[in-house]
This record gives sequence, C-alpha cells and structure tokens, in this order.
Amino acid sequence: MAQAQAVEKKQMRTPIESGCPDGMQFMHPLMVKNFGNWKYHDRPRPGVLHHVAYSGDEIWTVRVGTQRQLGPYEINLLCDIVDKYAEGHVRFTIRSNLEVMVSKWDKVGPLIQAFNDAGYPVGGTGNSVTMISHTQGWLHCDIPGTDASGVVKSLMDELYEEFIKEEMPNRVHITTSCCQINCGGQGDIAINVQHTKPPKINHDLVANVCERPSVVARCPVAAIRPAIVNGKPSLEVDEKKCICCGACYPPCPPMQINDPEHSKLAIWVGGKNSNARSKPMFQKLVAAGLPNNPPRWPEVAVVVKKILYTYKKDARDWERVGDWVERIGWPRFFELTGLPFTKFHIDNWRGARNSLNASAHIRF
Ligand code: SF4
Ligand code: SF4
Repeated sequence: MAQAQAVEKKQMRTPIESGCPDGMQFMHPLMVKNFGNWKYHDRPRPGVLHHVAYSGDEIWTVRVGTQRQLGPYEINLLCDIVDKYAEGHVRFTIRSNLEVMVSKWDKVGPLIQAFNDAGYPVGGTGNSVTMISHTQGWLHCDIPGTDASGVVKSLMDELYEEFIKEEMPNRVHITTSCCQINCGGQGDIAINVQHTKPPKINHDLVANVCERPSVVARCPVAAIRPAIVNGKPSLEVDEKKCICCGACYPPCPPMQINDPEHSKLAIWVGGKNSNARSKPMFQKLVAAGLPNNPPRWPEVAVVVKKILYTYKKDARDWERVGDWVERIGWPRFFELTGLPFTKFHIDNWRGARNSLNASAHIRF
C-alpha cells in the first residue's frame, strides 16, 4: 500500500507557483484510462466529437459556445447543466468553447437540449466558424485599445448559424487582438486594433510614473528620446519615425496612444498555423480604419461577413481562406468582396534598415 502511494506521489507533477495545474486530475476517468490510446474519432453531428479507444471504450464530447466573459450566474448555470445531464467533467478550449464529456450516446441529445434551452449554442466543430480566439480586452488587460471580448460576442451573435452548422469549405478560425503589439495570432480572418496617431504625452506625469530608459528601449524604431519639458524630465517622440504601434504605452501610461477617434480596427485575412494541405501562412491586411465602435462594432461585422460569405460561395472544398486567396489572386479577392483596394495595402515601407531598433544598445 505504502509502495503504491509512493508510486502515485512520484507520478504527480511537482507544483509550481505559476502556470496551470496538472490537467490529469480533472479529466474524465475514461480519458485518463485511455490516455494516448485512442484509435480514431469522428463527428456524429455538428458540435459533437466521438472518440473510440483501442480498449473499445467510447466517449462523446459536446462543444458549447460561451459568451467568453462568464460571471458566477453563468458558471453556476453551466455547471448545473453539466451535473444534471453529463458526468461532471468539462474543459475550456483556447477559443472559449466549453467541452463536456459523456460516456453514453444516449446522454448527448438531452445535454444538447439543455444547453440550447439555456441559450447556449452547440457547434464549432469541423467546417464551421468556431468561436473567435481573442485577447483579454478591457476587463483584464491594462493596455487594450478595444474590447476583444465584446467584438467576439457581437460578431458571434451574427455568425450563430455558421457556428451550429458545418457548411464552410473548411474550418474558419477568426481572431481578435485588442492592441497592436502583444497577444493575437494568425487567423483566417483577424480583427486587430490599429492606432493611427502617435502617443499624446502627459509631461507632468512621466517623471513620476515611467522608467525613461525602459521606454526609450521599448520603441521598435527608436523614435523616443529623453527630454526636459517645463523644467521636468520627460520624453519626446519623433513623430516622423513613429509607426503608432503603442509599445511605449505599457511601460509608460502617460504616453496615451488609445484614442476614441484615432484608434481604429483593421481586418486581416489568410493566416493559418496549420500545415495540413498547405504551409502555415501569414495574414495580410485587407481593410483598415474601421471605426472602433462599441458595443456592437457594426462596421466590422459588415466587412467580416462580406469576406466570409464570399469565401463560402467561391472557395473549393477544403480550401482555407488563405488557400482560396492564393488560388484566385489578390486582385480577384478585392473584386469579389467589393472591398476597396487603396495605396495603404501596398507594403512599401523600407525604413527597417535605417531605423529598426534591432540592437540591444540604446541609441538617441
Ligand atoms: S492584445 Fe494587447 S491589450 Fe489585448 S490582452 Fe493582449 S496585451 Fe492586452
Ligand atoms: S513605441 Fe511605437 S507608438 Fe511609441 S513612439 Fe515608438 S513607434 Fe511610436
């Protein structure tokens, strides 16, 4: 017995102060039992995954879209459904979907009905528009220019039908990013903040709040210099060099870059991380200067839907958005979507060689 305990103890991962806890302890017992021994999986209907193990065990996973920012009411509601209709085991995906595991097919129907009755859609699998992966927004981060979670909720309300059905040529991954510099990633369609004016500096606060060398070092194009303003140590920005990235704002909040009028949203398309069928791709900018217009961001929704439904109509089976654009060419993409092509879409910036802050030295 003591020996068995010792073995068990040795297998547990050592606790660390940061990072998530060992996931094995929360997993459905069938998943622990068959860990690494799955034979195949299929999708009996949109929103449901079915895994079969070499041992013959089967498990069904029901994927539910959430509104992303969950309060105690929503969490209790979801947990009550899971306790009543499932087997008490859930996980969240990186796209804020809730996944609920059950060991019997008979339980799947009532579980889906209970989620639907509570207003939660089941879907997001296969060739659907799954939940938008997104960054933290106003609620959690200190530097956002928009509320990523709000963009997600308002857009997914409009794309509800595409979440619960699998009718796209291939899966569609949409992403958002609420500042220009940190989180976010490659998406088939990405909605990212775009600052269009250099930061406004509150010179009264800089000396007390900011570590000036850190701020200077943070600028990717070496546009910031120390300066004395009104007799106080402060900073100045060479606005001709500034690319309005916002990287100086996190270490120095008095360099305010967010602006109700000049912080905009831009749409990028064609990115993907997967190397299935074609290589991973970087996304490219297709629409810029859209108003950052909470709480529903209607102008963004119009452009995203235009791109999405043109892709749905025109792409061949299994083409991701980027594959489709590569095949038809960018001129045709702009023709089909009706989006205006402007000189700002041409990446002709050649300033990196002269100004990119690529060395570890601080230059003034
Ligand atoms: S994208 Fe930027 S603002 Fe948004 S959560 Fe990440 S660091 Fe914060
Ligand atoms: S960090 Fe970015 S926003 Fe700030 S001055 Fe440099 S280029 Fe401009």
